[in-house]
Amino acid sequence: MSLKTTAILSDRPANEPPLLEIAGVHKTYFMDGVTVKALRGVNLSVQRGEFVAIMGASGSGKSTLMNILGCLDRPTHGVYKINGIEVSHLSKNQLATVRNRQIGFVFQGFNLLSRTSALENVEMPMVYANVQAEERRERALAALASVGLTGRENHTSSQLSGGQQQRVAIARALVNKPAVILADEPTGNLDSRSSIEIMAIFQGLNERGITVVLITHEPDIAQYTKRNVRVKDGLISSDEAVARQLNAPAELAALPPLEQDGLADEIEQPIPEEQEGAALP
Ligand code: ADP
Ligand code: MG
Repeated sequence: MSLKTTAILSDRPANEPPLLEIAGVHKTYFMDGVTVKALRGVNLSVQRGEFVAIMGASGSGKSTLMNILGCLDRPTHGVYKINGIEVSHLSKNQLATVRNRQIGFVFQGFNLLSRTSALENVEMPMVYANVQAEERRERALAALASVGLTGRENHTSSQLSGGQQQRVAIARALVNKPAVILADEPTGNLDSRSSIEIMAIFQGLNERGITVVLITHEPDIAQYTKRNVRVKDGLISSDEAVARQLNAPAELAALPPLEQDGLADEIEQPIPEEQEGAALP
């Protein structure tokens, strides 16, 4: 295929670099005299607007790969470029700057500040980015609305279900308008319905053009994305387009109606502060 045809088909200039590009990446950990080769020569490109699942057994190197993609760690060997700019040799401070500007993280354990409202959690990255208070509030409210949490802004983590906490974490990841959302096992702590709800949110974000890379070891979760990359023993063992992407809103609609406790969740009142405090040892 000619470059010109590629450009037309992909609706993207032929000379535009991949959003994320990893080439010949090795990561070796040295600990207590033991050497662990967690990545052994990985090549991976992600274009703007993709929705990718990185899959593999426990210990295969998924989190190591994610840490490098997210500028949380550097490769031992090899090259990592974001938007065509090499970041593999940046200092820790420079990496932190790239990370804050370009990457939105979502973790398995939500990683929200406890005893802090949903709104304040979402505002936090903007505090570090020196966004003024009024704009912070506006953007945080909009981000919470975009994940369906209008009306829950003042709830703390203990007053939210796991699925709702993960939605707060997604709003927090979005709020500085990152180039990519990286999610490490985002449904790992959730029941099946909440997992599909989270996948519906990622699908909605991706439809709006947001690039999403998520790690999962659950094959059914990977079917909600558009591309599945498998990691095995520190190498990519397969990389395939998803033939029939599952539609999360349709899957949710097909689930049996919510039981009483699920329904109660929607009309649940916030727990009064003193009651919440009294429950603690
Ligand atoms: P996964 O996320 O697929 O479970 P990881 O990337 O966490 O895999 O780990 C890959 C390998 O590297 C494993 O053998 C793990 O024990 C090892 N490893 C991961 N992080 C470290 C570390 N900080 N120090 C030493 N070994 C590590
Ligand atoms: Mg992991």
